Amino acid sequence: MKGVTLLGATGSIGANTLDVLARHPDRYRIEALTAHRDVAGMTALCRRLQPRFAVMADPAAAAELTQALAGSPTEVLAGSAGLERVATLPEVAIVVAAIVGAAGLLPALAAARAGKRILLANKEALVMSGRLFIDAVVAGGAELLPVDSEHNAIFQCLPPGFDRGLDGTGVTHILLTASGGPFRETPFEALAAVTPDQACAHPNWEMGRKISVDSATMMNKGLEVIEACWLFGLPPERIRVVIHPQSLVHSMVQYADGSLLAELGRPDMRTAIAHALAWPERIDSGVAALEPPALAQLDFSEPSLERFPCLDLAYRAARAGGGAPTVLNAANEVAVAAFLDGALPFPAIARVIAECLEHAPAELPADIEAILALDGTTRPLATAACIRHAGGGA
Ligand code: NDP
Repeated sequence: MKGVTLLGATGSIGANTLDVLARHPDRYRIEALTAHRDVAGMTALCRRLQPRFAVMADPAAAAELTQALAGSPTEVLAGSAGLERVATLPEVAIVVAAIVGAAGLLPALAAARAGKRILLANKEALVMSGRLFIDAVVAGGAELLPVDSEHNAIFQCLPPGFDRGLDGTGVTHILLTASGGPFRETPFEALAAVTPDQACAHPNWEMGRKISVDSATMMNKGLEVIEACWLFGLPPERIRVVIHPQSLVHSMVQYADGSLLAELGRPDMRTAIAHALAWPERIDSGVAALEPPALAQLDFSEPSLERFPCLDLAYRAARAGGGAPTVLNAANEVAVAAFLDGALPFPAIARVIAECLEHAPAELPADIEAILALDGTTRPLATAACIRHAGGGA
């Protein structure tokens, strides 16, 4: 019986994780659930699942939840101290890092330092802190298992015993597949008028709104390139992105002998979550098998960097290193939030990020405080750029 803390329980990955956990009550016990402000969602989850702890990152929401759960066995905690506490509980073996954005960094890092098995969905945490996060995983004796379906697929296609470094494995490069999102074939001139709801209508995956917009710009794939660099110890030149609209091949690993290993499955996050929960065992995820007729058409093509400038920006940030990935992530979070608020046209997301990257420091931030400071100084720059680009001008 393993104790589980689920960071980001009210989100899309949160719901998928709870679905998998519910299939295995004999293996996993939910100790703690967390959310930001969704009091109604957390009240319902806590009444149903009765975790020992429930954390609301927002203190006012924590006060509301305390009232709503009066008389229940669940203790309500608040703020970042509450998140870090439940990420490090001694009775917890597994921490699912499924908060969206930079807000997930500190609790994920706390779990790393405490030596937990971390199921990493929150790619922004690794992108913004890179080497420092990996160092914390190694120093804390933690296990970092990817839940992002592409990285989970790569992990499944790597040789057993791989430990963040592919020297001597015969791996030449990895191929990250990308659906191309909802605007893969939209005429360029129509992109300026696309709405948040259109951007969030992903053709294959049901996800939270931020990652859905990232998929539409392909910044999601760019963040995944940086995530893959850190998870697998590869430079960006050895990570290729390939458009695969069917989203059935979740990613591939190319070997020196010509073998191309791929992991295939339905586009359903429960497969990757179940894999990372039970690894190296295999358990039921609730996902139906992929029948061969579904594989009749598998298309692959190169992404256009003209159509997807955010992918280009992410590769540039990966190559530049230093503070560039932290700046890229912070600027993207601000620009995507502005687009979702109806305050920035879709094509201007890339322009805002490009402008912020011009201010990225060449040197690597020395510690997590420096990472958070760089994230903090980038956000007002990005907000100012969003205001300049609100009308859609170049
Ligand atoms: P959602 O927006 O659906 O859920 C986000 C979760 O994070 C919610 O529980 C939310 O709480 C919580 N949260 C938001 N802001 C804060 C904050 N400031 N402090 C603490 N908690 C916060 O996101 P997804 O589930 O789609 O994505 C989560 C992460 O997983 C992202 O990093 C994404 O890139 C990654 N991912 C997602 C995939 C998917 O299929 N959805 C696939 C691969 C990766 P509340 O509800 O109260 O706002």
